[in-house]
Amino acid sequence: MKSFNLSIKTVDTLNSNINKKDYIDSLGLFKLMFRRESNIIIVIPMSSNENILKKYIRKLMRYKNYLLKWNNITIILQGFCNDKIIHCQFKELLFPICYGDKYSIYSKAYDLACDYLDSYFYGKNLCDFCDNKCGYKKDFDLETGCCRHFEKHRQLGLLLGEKLVNCEYLGNNGRCNVKCLGCKLYTCPYLEKKGIKFKIKDIFPINSIFNWMQKIYIKSIIYAKKEDIMKGIMFLS
Ligand code: SF4
Ligand code: SF4
Repeated sequence: MKSFNLSIKTVDTLNSNINKKDYIDSLGLFKLMFRRESNIIIVIPMSSNENILKKYIRKLMRYKNYLLKWNNITIILQGFCNDKIIHCQFKELLFPICYGDKYSIYSKAYDLACDYLDSYFYGKNLCDFCDNKCGYKKDFDLETGCCRHFEKHRQLGLLLGEKLVNCEYLGNNGRCNVKCLGCKLYTCPYLEKKGIKFKIKDIFPINSIFNWMQKIYIKSIIYAKKEDIMKGIMFLS
């Protein structure tokens, strides 16, 4: 089996001694198809502009089949900043993009989006939980915030007079056990009043990797396990 080696380097400024490097902007299909060396060095100038980073991601995905012919790929992230979440997310996506299959690219992007949203919420009590009741539902007898659904028809049960039950995926620690990205993206009017609302285009791994149908699908599927959501994502790819 062919072995691959991807080396990702992060630098502030590029060492001028590096010969035979290709800037991602000038990397073209012609070069990728006809170059003979076994190594390739790709320089990516990191930006704070998500659209530019998205363009680079898309370009690497488009050229993926040609990248596979190199045993050794070095990617130099020029101007990489550890404190910038999108730089870190970009870096994490590189391995599956260069060597993984479609499933592993989508899975990585999905996990990065979940991690981002978890780190946004966990430990901060943004929902103002007090005596197990969140700020939005404090006047109701509801102790699990919005992790509840109708008993049989999870979203349409209201029309059938079904009662609300706790979501079976809610862990004892109050966290979701199944990485449901659609739920994580949800914000109720209480949070929106506090200025907390997520749009797909604000979540770099989702915005840069998935197509428009996958984005709508991800946003609309709630109360579901990651592995089931991944089936839909693959179907819509
Ligand atoms: S998102 Fe809104 S309804 Fe859900 S737990 Fe937070 S405050 Fe409560
Ligand atoms: S699937 Fe949704 S409703 Fe159920 S525990 Fe996870 S986040 Fe809460």
